[in-house]
Amino acid sequence: MIGVIANPADHDVVCEFFELFKTPWEFYRPNLKYEVVLVAGDCRFDGTAKVVVLYAGRKTHFDDEHEIRTGGHLDNDCILSYQGRRIPIYGNSITFPEKGSSLLTDEGSQVCAAYVDESSHGALARIGYDLFSEIRTLLTVGQPAANASIPALELHIALLRHLITGAGASIVEIPPIPDGHRFVACLTHDVDHPSIRQHKWDHTMFGFLYRATVGSFGKLFQGRISLRDLVKNCAAALKLPFVHLGLARDFWRDFDDRYLEIENGLHSTFFLIPFSDRPGSGWDGPAPALRGTRYGARSLSEPIAKLINAGCEVGLHGIDAWADSVKGSKELEEIRRLAGASQIGVRMHWLYYNEQSPSTLEAAGATYDSTIGYNETVGYRAGTTQVFKPLNAKELLELPLHVMDTALFYPSYMDFSPNQARVLLCQMIENAVQFGGTLTINWHDRSLAPERLWGSVYQDLLRDLKSRGAWISTVGEAISWFRKRRSATFEADTTQPGAVRVKVSVEHRDGLPGMRLRIHPPQKSRSIGVNDCDEYVDIAVEEAIVMSIPSEVSP
Ligand SMILES: [Zn+2]
Repeated sequence: MIGVIANPADHDVVCEFFELFKTPWEFYRPNLKYEVVLVAGDCRFDGTAKVVVLYAGRKTHFDDEHEIRTGGHLDNDCILSYQGRRIPIYGNSITFPEKGSSLLTDEGSQVCAAYVDESSHGALARIGYDLFSEIRTLLTVGQPAANASIPALELHIALLRHLITGAGASIVEIPPIPDGHRFVACLTHDVDHPSIRQHKWDHTMFGFLYRATVGSFGKLFQGRISLRDLVKNCAAALKLPFVHLGLARDFWRDFDDRYLEIENGLHSTFFLIPFSDRPGSGWDGPAPALRGTRYGARSLSEPIAKLINAGCEVGLHGIDAWADSVKGSKELEEIRRLAGASQIGVRMHWLYYNEQSPSTLEAAGATYDSTIGYNETVGYRAGTTQVFKPLNAKELLELPLHVMDTALFYPSYMDFSPNQARVLLCQMIENAVQFGGTLTINWHDRSLAPERLWGSVYQDLLRDLKSRGAWISTVGEAISWFRKRRSATFEADTTQPGAVRVKVSVEHRDGLPGMRLRIHPPQKSRSIGVNDCDEYVDIAVEEAIVMSIPSEVSP
């Protein structure tokens, strides 16, 4: 059990952090004895514990009392090195120049930024940044695109787990991993252009014609598309007048059949725009006219029924819901009616969002959101692979968006070749395998059709996700699984010293995978930063249970 001493203003973020690092903890109570005490900022702790972990990005009275020389403040937005990984720090941080530890160092100067002192009383770890201020930044403002590739929040959890086990205490946790799998993958499709016939003499039609012809020749010369794809694109361009005359098939219209075919029984989530020709409100004033789509969801009632019959989910691709709960509730109602479902989730069109959006969406009646991601790059805006509850939401959960096809391939964004995209996607799958949580993909409705023809990268991705042990679920199912994990509680077992009781009260007869309890024993070498042997024991949790876990378990 970890006793946490933090500034009361940070208690909301402490609670959310320990939903993501799902391990026994409570706010410190002075009359109790804890194996591990986590002290944040300038809070005082005068007792003893097997492990005391002190996070502060400034010199504290503790440093004065122990005559610890601290180095200068590092710049905001510095990077710390941790076991070959990079952890960006967005708030205050300091170094300890007289300490030789290489557990955590400033990337630029290689000076120590965290160390562990061991004495007969126990171990004391001093980390030179403010953990909860970092978590708050990640879950609210998010990371700049330059640090998109870094799952910073997961690294903060890994470092804390490592400090505790390395200093001689064990850790019990419920990792963000559905039992029987290694991580969760959510396949999603924002439906923006489900018919080229609706685009006559407009920006979308001329853009298509240019990219299908001139653009495709250019890509062929760069070796980025095959001759076959060039022929397909030119044929589609030649066919366009006949599509408009109703004499040829609308090659953007069969997105539902194409995805059902290549996903072959996997369940994905389609986000649909509720009303046609509404650009909605923008950051300041009306959004650009281009944001309005030519279709509204009710024109797709047939594909909606087909997708739902096949086990897929339909959600709202919101227009104004991010900023206006009254309009948001009308948008949700339209999708709720068409999908015949009571619980509807949201992803905003063009990823419009601000810090108030979680509470606005919640007031509108949304069950979840999956907007927090980047338009211009791929990665971890909130620093996490996990579903989380935004700090100003009561119930609404956020499934972060990690990969959008347009970010990978648009010339003005990453401009990747198919092979560069495959390499990057493999790295992101590796992160999901290492940290658990989800990998959320958005492949747009028209991305399989001319002139994009991005289907082969998507099919390779599906194959890799399956072979690497992903549980491929709809967003709604992933959200339900994380709600189940959040409902598990831990408490100290007063009958056995050091033991904790885990209570999982939900009935798991919900068709979702179970959870697992993971027990990390203390690391035998006690040499933090050198030995990172990640030994653990997993116990499957299938049904509602109450069980006791002693503090010492051998793997
Ligand atoms: Zn969109």
